[in-house]
Amino acid sequence: LRIANNNGRAVIVDEHHYVDISTASNGKFGPGPDAVFEDWHNFIEWAQDPAAISAADKLPRSAARFDSPVTRPSQIFAIGLNYADHANESKMEIPQHPVVFTKFGSCLAGPDVEVRLTGETVDWETELVVVMGASGRNISEDRAWDHVAGLTIGQDLSDRTIQFWSTPPQFSLGKSAAGFAPLGPAIVTVDELRDAGYDPNDLALGCTLVESDGRRRELQDGRTRDLIFPVPRLIAELSKIVELRAGDLIFTGTPSGVGAGRDPKEFLKAGQILETVIEGLGMIRQTFVAP
Ligand code: ZN
Repeated sequence: LRIANNNGRAVIVDEHHYVDISTASNGKFGPGPDAVFEDWHNFIEWAQDPAAISAADKLPRSAARFDSPVTRPSQIFAIGLNYADHANESKMEIPQHPVVFTKFGSCLAGPDVEVRLTGETVDWETELVVVMGASGRNISEDRAWDHVAGLTIGQDLSDRTIQFWSTPPQFSLGKSAAGFAPLGPAIVTVDELRDAGYDPNDLALGCTLVESDGRRRELQDGRTRDLIFPVPRLIAELSKIVELRAGDLIFTGTPSGVGAGRDPKEFLKAGQILETVIEGLGMIRQTFVAP
């Protein structure tokens, strides 16, 4: 199942169609994108019933206008330094415990948006994002995937100047300007990924920069099997301390290849387009505009 947000309404999408969840379920689920998580298990049961969706409910996907698939999560967790090669390029120690910060909720944005740069040092961070489907505390690693609604693509866009303008650094504020958490295009359930032949613990992820003259350059190319704290471990560690709630997001960290880790350092410029891809999940695309 792939669940997206069409203009403020929760929809199920496939390659060619979308289905408005509230319309198809006679108002039982939806209408907003966050409402499906409130009753996640019943929603999944309904959506997997072949009789749930009639042909008349299917509309052409090209008519949909996708926004962030989650709009009001109760919490957004983001994990720093969760790939060894990224910790090395950042000249930081390999963490012994997950390094956790937040992206404040007002920075969530759709999968294909313009993002206004906040300065000269805005950087890219390609990340697998976990969407929680069932609340819980003290979730064990072996039950963790059962609590996940699905996976999606995120960029943890980061203004390195704001992030490091005080000691200790303030990751959260530097990563929370408008549009700094583009998300989507859809939440893909773990079943759907497995059925398509993907291992949710080992997905290729990366991003490509497209210059205004069309030249393309690959910036990041990693695999989620290299996560220092994999998804089940993150869910177990976080839920030892906080209640994880349905609809919460976990940005799981970025592999190497960020701009601040390059010599010389390199950051996003107006007119550039960033395409971020995770296998099985699709692509998001951001166009950057001047401050
Ligand atoms: Zn990050």
